Amino acid sequence: MVRSRAHGILLGLACGDALGRPVEFQGPDQIERTHGRVTKMLAHGTHGQPAGTITDDTEMALCIARSLAEHGTFEPEDIATRFVDWKRSGPFDIGIMTSSALQRIQNGESWDEAGQREWEASMEGSNAGNGSLMRCAPYAIAYRNEPTELVEVSRQSSAITHADSRCQWSCALFNRTLANLLTDVDQPLERILNEIGSELPDDVRNAVEPITTTLRGDSANISLENSGYVVTTLQAGLYHGLTAETAEDAIVDAVMMGGDTDTIGAVAGAVAGARFGEGALPERWLTEIDEVEELCQLATGLIERQH
Ligand SMILES: [Mg+2]
Repeated sequence: MVRSRAHGILLGLACGDALGRPVEFQGPDQIERTHGRVTKMLAHGTHGQPAGTITDDTEMALCIARSLAEHGTFEPEDIATRFVDWKRSGPFDIGIMTSSALQRIQNGESWDEAGQREWEASMEGSNAGNGSLMRCAPYAIAYRNEPTELVEVSRQSSAITHADSRCQWSCALFNRTLANLLTDVDQPLERILNEIGSELPDDVRNAVEPITTTLRGDSANISLENSGYVVTTLQAGLYHGLTAETAEDAIVDAVMMGGDTDTIGAVAGAVAGARFGEGALPERWLTEIDEVEELCQLATGLIERQH
């Protein structure tokens, strides 16, 4: 089952990314009016690409997965170099903070200085985007049995471009949740909050705690938002990924929120893929995505990397 769940993480991420891509930046009403419920890969739309095209979310996750597969361990300098090479290739979708931090590395700053300096130069309100959360899932597979290391590498990897503590800890919490799903731990999110809840920034903890209340069957006051703020993306992705009845519903519900649809879809998709396994992802989506075979090979490689 770990293989199916690991494949599910990377394929679910790609499915949410590609399903959300054509409607990114649209409001939920506009999506509903134009497309009804988005249950198939659409062509054209935002960024004007063919159906099933992935964006920066999956492309940056691929950079991380390829580096982990090749080195067998977290090599931040190599990952930063792969990010810079990818930026140089001229992607049609790249986040502002990611682009600025990678430009600093391109200009000669080290990977650990660039993100920190970019964060210091950014204003509150534009310094904690979801650009490191969307790409971080490969670590959950490789480090699924090493919880302390998983927290550490998730935080460091975030800091290459997103050094804000809310970004770092969102990546850590998200990956620990994925690792629990991969290893069939009951109440995956609640367990993590019990273990690292006191270390989390208040905004992160307060956004995620009500989801555990919902999962226990009690009523909780959750108002999901579709912005690019890391805390709301983490909340929406975990909420849809952990509460939906099917993997398809988790991803479609996330995309139907509008706004940052590809990233919310990708985060929800990784959770749903871990929870339900790759077989639960619709075949009609997977056939549209060119990177499926490489994503599966990498996921398998990351499982075996485990020592
Ligand atoms: Mg994107």
